[in-house]
Amino acid sequence: MYKHALKGGIRTAKQAWKLKNELGKLNLELAKTNSDFEQHLCEAARIIQSCAPPANNTHRPLLLLKKHGDNSKSSPYNSSSTSACSIVANHYRTAVNPRSVTDKTVKPVFRVETGHLNALISSKQFVKVQKQFYRDFSSASLGSSLKSSDAPLLGDLCSQYRVILAHTSADVVPGEDRHQAQCNYQQKRRAHQHIQSQEEQLEQQKMAQKTQFERLPTNVVPRHYELLLQPNLEEFTFKGKTVVQVQVKEPTNQITLNALDITIDSVELDYECTKLKPEKIVYSVENETATLEFGQEIPKETAGVLRMSFTGELNDKMKGFYRSKYFGPNGEERYAGVTQFEATDARRCFPCWDEPAIKATFDITLVVPKDRVALSNMPVIKEDSLPDGLRRVRFDRTPIMSTYLVAVVVGEYDYVEGKSDDGVIVRVFTPVGKREQGTFALEVATKVLPYYKDYFNIAYPLPKMDLIAISDFSAGAMENWGLVTYRETFVLVDPKNTSLMRKQSIALTVGHEIAHQWFGNLVTMEWWTHLWLNEGYASFVEFLCVHHLFPEYDIWTQFVTDMYTRALELDSLKNSHPIEVPVGHPSEIDEIFDEISYNKGASVIRMLHDYIGEDDFRKGMNIYLTRHQYGNTCTEDLWTALQEASSKKVAEVMSSWTQHKGFPVVSVESEQRGGSKRVLRLNQCKFTADGSQAEENCLWTVPISVSTSKNPTGIAKTFLLDKPSMEVILENVEESDWIKINPGTVGYYRTRYSSKMLEQLMPAVERMELPPLDRLGLIDDMFAMVQAGHASTAEVLALVDSYRNETNYTVWTAITNSLTNLHILISHTDLMDDFHRFGRNLYEPVAQRLGWEPRDGENHLDTLLRSLVLTRLVSFRSEDIIETARARFRSHVTGTNLLPADLRTTCYKAVLQDGDEKVFEEMLSLYRSTDLHEEQDRISRALGCCSDVKLLRRVIDFAMSGEVRAQDSVFVIVAVAINPKGRDMAWDFFKENNKQLLERYQGGFLLSRLIKYLIENFATEDRAREVEEFFKTNQIPGCERTVSQAVETIRLNAAWLQRDRVALAAFLGRYKSHYVR
Ligand SMILES: [Zn+2]
Repeated sequence: MYKHALKGGIRTAKQAWKLKNELGKLNLELAKTNSDFEQHLCEAARIIQSCAPPANNTHRPLLLLKKHGDNSKSSPYNSSSTSACSIVANHYRTAVNPRSVTDKTVKPVFRVETGHLNALISSKQFVKVQKQFYRDFSSASLGSSLKSSDAPLLGDLCSQYRVILAHTSADVVPGEDRHQAQCNYQQKRRAHQHIQSQEEQLEQQKMAQKTQFERLPTNVVPRHYELLLQPNLEEFTFKGKTVVQVQVKEPTNQITLNALDITIDSVELDYECTKLKPEKIVYSVENETATLEFGQEIPKETAGVLRMSFTGELNDKMKGFYRSKYFGPNGEERYAGVTQFEATDARRCFPCWDEPAIKATFDITLVVPKDRVALSNMPVIKEDSLPDGLRRVRFDRTPIMSTYLVAVVVGEYDYVEGKSDDGVIVRVFTPVGKREQGTFALEVATKVLPYYKDYFNIAYPLPKMDLIAISDFSAGAMENWGLVTYRETFVLVDPKNTSLMRKQSIALTVGHEIAHQWFGNLVTMEWWTHLWLNEGYASFVEFLCVHHLFPEYDIWTQFVTDMYTRALELDSLKNSHPIEVPVGHPSEIDEIFDEISYNKGASVIRMLHDYIGEDDFRKGMNIYLTRHQYGNTCTEDLWTALQEASSKKVAEVMSSWTQHKGFPVVSVESEQRGGSKRVLRLNQCKFTADGSQAEENCLWTVPISVSTSKNPTGIAKTFLLDKPSMEVILENVEESDWIKINPGTVGYYRTRYSSKMLEQLMPAVERMELPPLDRLGLIDDMFAMVQAGHASTAEVLALVDSYRNETNYTVWTAITNSLTNLHILISHTDLMDDFHRFGRNLYEPVAQRLGWEPRDGENHLDTLLRSLVLTRLVSFRSEDIIETARARFRSHVTGTNLLPADLRTTCYKAVLQDGDEKVFEEMLSLYRSTDLHEEQDRISRALGCCSDVKLLRRVIDFAMSGEVRAQDSVFVIVAVAINPKGRDMAWDFFKENNKQLLERYQGGFLLSRLIKYLIENFATEDRAREVEEFFKTNQIPGCERTVSQAVETIRLNAAWLQRDRVALAAFLGRYKSHYVR
């Protein structure tokens, strides 16, 4: 019995995947051609017929054809679903006869909607098991088609993970939309169960208890919320009321919505002449829901009003509706009430349908003390005085939007105000008395709005844009529509005390959050699986925008070290994940706000931008945003739009990058043929951090470009590498010419040259003939080859030595990042002194060129380079530099000559590195004397470089004391953990205090950040095992992937050390005898 059920499961899962793929392809055809509707229906029917199981009423796939080019544009204040014309072809038999289902008078362009299949396949039941399944069977990762040769393997895996397969099927009944599909799915599942053995049912129940996650049923959906919130900023509680206009789509006697850590005090549902109160409210902490159970059935097609009142705690966890501490004019503690809802914490503030695709409009009202500033997404429309020193503030109605973008802030702030060229009012709210620190962000924001308006060709949809600095804030910033909240260091600029680097990242952050106002807020991902769409895109566009506003930053070069190389590093691990990752439960969603979603996402979009060109990219963005405004999308929707704009194979090229984890290494050999012909032989295979052969056999469609010494900044040839290997002929290349693959370091892959090609390239590096991005890409690829064991550390150090004349800041950043990794490795040996000597020799020439004092009119990048190089020399123990740094620090603390902000970290570290208790205390009093968050950050993070373990322990105690905000403590502990002297102690501290830390951060990304740095710098198998054991017995939800990635890194370190230790010692020894210093 059970075996049969299993087979059925395999078959339906395979069919679902196959169907999705086939329909996806058909969509591309539809996008390209504009031809006959009937023909498309027939084609779709043919596909379904070939994929679907034989006529079996319980397994009928749904084909939903959605009309495009509909004149009735969806209004922002209404749900778009009513105006979308959906035609459902019931079954393939119906579909081959389109006349029965469609109006013959219209012949619009149609598109096959595969979103519901995605939803079924990617985000449904048993997500954890499903994820594990994907991990174990990654060649069949989401969306790729299954080959018949995969069947035996699939069979094995199925027996391990049978539950998901039995239910990952295409068994949707016609006539439903995606949400209904889900709720019917439940019934279907129950019906299904009678054919399963008791044993299997038990197994399933067990599994379900542990891992089941379900999206909300959508038999009842909200259209509009009135929401009133009244925080008590002294007792740290809030009360609220919400009146929700709901639509009952299926008859039901219960309504399930999200609620967590709030108590619903009263509920009433009104419809027609009926008033209903629920018999009981069932809360599920695991599912973060509340189910209102009514004693009678609410009929279908009812428009009702659901009234609820509720209460909650104004928590200190930086999520939901929380309290944020600040100080009043006389130093007294005060609190603001602030919201942070992304990803899934609106439910901690008010009962709601808290999923990105369930959009509604909002009328928000706040009741606050008279003297407080009250802000929300929209402008104020009415204010009234209330008794007891209170005031009621009503805000204008929002456009239709997702719950995670709703925001309110209540507190004391000053602000600066401006207006963008296109008439949007922009305000930057700062702590009281620090108004001028908002002017930089104001300038950026007012310029960015018209820039995006022009770029996207769509105006910013709201009348105002507020930016606000929040004292307690866990992320960097949050793009709430019309009210963007920031960590203070990501928005405030104090001209005397803010470093250039900080200013640059503030410009990027403002650019990022404002980009989300279109990409994310106006058009939102359908589910968190597509989070990368939001984050990858905004992380790309922030660079476009800063490049436009501040060309002197040379920001695109910095993109490569900031975003691209970091993504490659993480993505080469076995425990990486595809950009599009199936997620379900909130703890899993938190974990994907990681470098894959942001950095890899941005990097592959940059590659795509380069592949289709700026003009078509822009055109495609406009199509995408216009077509889906106020709606929700999947990744494919973006590809379709860009494909329409460019007529290039966008979906085909991009799917290999978003659906597989990892990336290829392209190996190249060249051969001169005849006088001026050069033959390139390229092959691709998956790059792995440990150099092992990849288990899965992935193939990417790689856009490749090539430059040559004839024109180092131009492109000699471009082509697509879509096979395991290919040959390409370059004309007009002499025997002595060098060839560079991936000029501009745009392609998301690594290159491995034949030694002959590399030999030709190296002199071009020394002469700096190669542009900076190519010098940088080359060295970074080389280091990766070393880590993977394809080249030796000694070889690459010799190569690094040839960069000594390097002048470019970003190239130095790449070198520094690679040497920092090596530094960690060497800290496990007795070669530190020799390595320091190597480092001093490498960095001293550039330090001499730059000196300590900025020159008049110095360029932006030289200023950044100065702090980078001097700080490195401090850690390489350069005596001259340390001495100067100490002297400068002295005049700084005595007030005779203040240090420029750009050099403070350098000097603080120089003093602390060998500092005693006295220095430590001096630093603490410096910390206490400033109220600029940036300066506090700088000092507290520098503390981690002390050499004395006793002092380092005090640094951790300080981090955990009330003096450091919870949002910052993590980074202070990290600074201790990455110091080899503090490594073991910080780990011991964590082991002893993990419960307290978990309680403090409730999981979330701050905690996974901490865990990563605490453990990934170990380098022995024993440690790897210890860490694994520890997290097996002390599970930290939402950090599972981080732990496996870090454990993998420990093992990589151990292997690297074992492999290269001897040769490295020999190299550094030879080096020493050359340079007697
Ligand atoms: Zn973002």
